[in-house]
Amino acid sequence: MDYAAATPVDPTVLTAMKPYFSDRFYNPSAMYLGAKSVRADIETARRNVAGVLGVRASEIIFTAGATEANNLAIHGVMTKFPGCKMLVSAIEHDSVLEPAKQYNHAIIPVHATGHINLDKFRGMIAADDVVLVSIVYANNEIGTVQHMASIAKLIRQERGRRIANGNTMPLYFHTDAAQAPNDRHILAKRIGVDLMSLNGGKIYGPKQSGALFVATGVQLNPLIYGGGQEFGLRSGTENVANIVGFSHALVQASAHRQLESIRLAKLQVFFIKELVAHVPGVHITAPAAGLHTIVHIVIQGVDNERLMMQLDEVGIICAVGSACSASKKEPSRVLRAIGMSDEAARSSLRFSMGRHTDEAAIIKTVKVLKQLVV
Ligand code: PLP
Repeated sequence: MDYAAATPVDPTVLTAMKPYFSDRFYNPSAMYLGAKSVRADIETARRNVAGVLGVRASEIIFTAGATEANNLAIHGVMTKFPGCKMLVSAIEHDSVLEPAKQYNHAIIPVHATGHINLDKFRGMIAADDVVLVSIVYANNEIGTVQHMASIAKLIRQERGRRIANGNTMPLYFHTDAAQAPNDRHILAKRIGVDLMSLNGGKIYGPKQSGALFVATGVQLNPLIYGGGQEFGLRSGTENVANIVGFSHALVQASAHRQLESIRLAKLQVFFIKELVAHVPGVHITAPAAGLHTIVHIVIQGVDNERLMMQLDEVGIICAVGSACSASKKEPSRVLRAIGMSDEAARSSLRFSMGRHTDEAAIIKTVKVLKQLVV
């Protein structure tokens, strides 16, 4: 029950990756036939990823995961436009918030559901020096899926205002979509973004794989300089196995998404119903706010770390906060941002479901929780 932290590599993904560790180990930049054929595989992978996003292959930059993609988007744009400002939501992953902190930035407040406050946002983008807005598509802790169309509309209106005023400064919209592809479409144009980060490790692909979508015309600097691979935006010999694995995983996630999303939605309803019926003092955080994969709960009066360890002992794996911030002792800033008290946050757990979660797993989890919480 911790798929939001990591997913197992799909066996077909592993099979697709294997040749690049042996027969097809060549450096894709070399000139001989074997290497050229590996280069062709990278370009096929790029076209496949682009197909899922509905964009051009030349707009896909392969990265080592979403942290790198987020850093490339933020440092890339903010160093290109020195002195300008960026806006981030209050429920971003650290890999967006921390790079944003290096620049002039402001935090967009969110409602109790985790959705950004559109009225406040409208006021915040009406400033001529904002060059970048970064808002997480699907939050990893409470599962909120943002109303991307409404956000994109406000951004388009602001662009129109700038043009009318003769202001030529761009206003780019970036989203961290790391948690989205198993449950939501990631059609970049439909979402309305210029930059989008993706992560193989959350979609049954390898960790340290992923991509940044960069719409044609977006101006950004590279993070890593060197041999000029990935259109000069991400130098270094390509990790071909991971690129192919990521592409394969994304295509699969896209193919399974509609049916899997329906199955998970039913499972989520069942899980919540069972929790409410059997676990005393349980409260569901931001129900129906988004992802069908996440159930975030508070159980009044319990110590969440202790409960998590007790569950672990009987083979039920869940999270206290997000895996990435689990080493910090502070209550989660995402939970603070939605108005949860620190006391409630210390009694909260995140369960996240995936391809192998079934009703039996839910029944077992609720049964054990019921026994432990008395
Ligand atoms: N963004 C979100 C929403 C995430 O959930 C994660 C991982 O938990 C990341 C970014 C970072 O992913 P990675 O550490 O694999 O680069």
